[in-house]
Amino acid sequence: MNTHTRRDFLQSLSLGTAFLLPQNRILNTINPKNNTVLNIALVGLGSYATHQLAPAFAHTKNCKLAGIVSGSPSKVEIWKKKYNIPDKNVYNYSNFDEIAHNPDIDVVYVVLPNAMHHEFVIRAAKAGKHVICEKPMAVSVKEAQEMIAECKKAGVRLMIGYRLHYEPFTQEIMRLSKGQDHGKVKFIEASFGWRNRDTKAWRMQQKLSGGGALMDVGIYAINACRYATGEEPNFVTAQSVKTEPSVYIDIEETMMWQLHFPSGAISQSTSTYNGNIQRLFVSYEQGFLEMSPAYDYGPLKGRTSKGAMDFPVIYHQVAMLDGMAEEILHKLPSKASGEEGLQDMKIIEAIYQSASQGGAPIKIS
Ligand code: NAD
Repeated sequence: MNTHTRRDFLQSLSLGTAFLLPQNRILNTINPKNNTVLNIALVGLGSYATHQLAPAFAHTKNCKLAGIVSGSPSKVEIWKKKYNIPDKNVYNYSNFDEIAHNPDIDVVYVVLPNAMHHEFVIRAAKAGKHVICEKPMAVSVKEAQEMIAECKKAGVRLMIGYRLHYEPFTQEIMRLSKGQDHGKVKFIEASFGWRNRDTKAWRMQQKLSGGGALMDVGIYAINACRYATGEEPNFVTAQSVKTEPSVYIDIEETMMWQLHFPSGAISQSTSTYNGNIQRLFVSYEQGFLEMSPAYDYGPLKGRTSKGAMDFPVIYHQVAMLDGMAEEILHKLPSKASGEEGLQDMKIIEAIYQSASQGGAPIKIS
């Protein structure tokens, strides 16, 4: 996107912001009428960015990998060559704010450890860029609310990397939540865990992760219960179990929780760093849906009481990136908004609170 005029900015206000930015703000907002491709800068060149997101851009129609932000000069050299990224689109964590002056970057995609999301989303918003942020969007409800508020204030979009919202198995589960095929949802089992023994990694450090497997993968189970019912839970009860305190030092090892929905539907979930599980079972008034694997990059696999779930196997990150670009370019509501991420953060916080109070019911506000 190369032309950024005040007129473009005023057009972008129809994204839903009812206020003006200070006159001296550097404005790199997008004029969707003149553009069909968004230029994205990835912040944090770790495992997910390297193995899933960057290769996805070879297949996207609506967006391009245009910039990188990294603290590792050696990685930068490799990425520059591999993805043909010019020096002027390369930043480190210190000079990142300079991206405000770069009209070649439309969207900043934050793929850093969880506790860094808040800072970098807010810096990106202040630079006038739309933001995609990985899940979990933050490490607290307060942070998530601040991120949403700052993006609104800056007149930029905030989207969370919920890739499943853009893939067909998940969209079918959302459709079934309406009850036409199997009736209402009565009961759900949704669990996600993996064996993580890497005590040195940021995922095992509360300060950088904000929590254990609940933050990392339990969030998928929470999100699944919400899209399978189409409801928001009233309250939550939770229990935490630690069998190896020397490995899981300052994070939880295994969390079990129950979400209680207004319709009477109840879910039971487990997330853990001490065992492999990845499944979703939805019991409807008539029939069931069962998926395993249910949340990873695929191929996802499932069946209902009517037969196999026969949906195309797609590259989740391509569908998500193109979907998000389309939402930005055409000013459509997001399938994976900041508010969607905030709702999961509220439930995560309530789960930790309930577990710390011996399983007491905690209301979700
Ligand atoms: P990773 O450890 O592989 O990468 C993290 C990156 O952050 C690295 O490049 C590292 O150098 C950089 N970094 C900067 N400051 C750091 C610090 N103080 N400590 C540690 N690393 C630091 O992690 P990842 O698996 O790529 O996860 C990154 C984010 O992406 C997380 O929020 C995670 O939840 C999310 N994620 C999402 C999916 C998905 O399917 N949506 C999958 C994997 C990860």
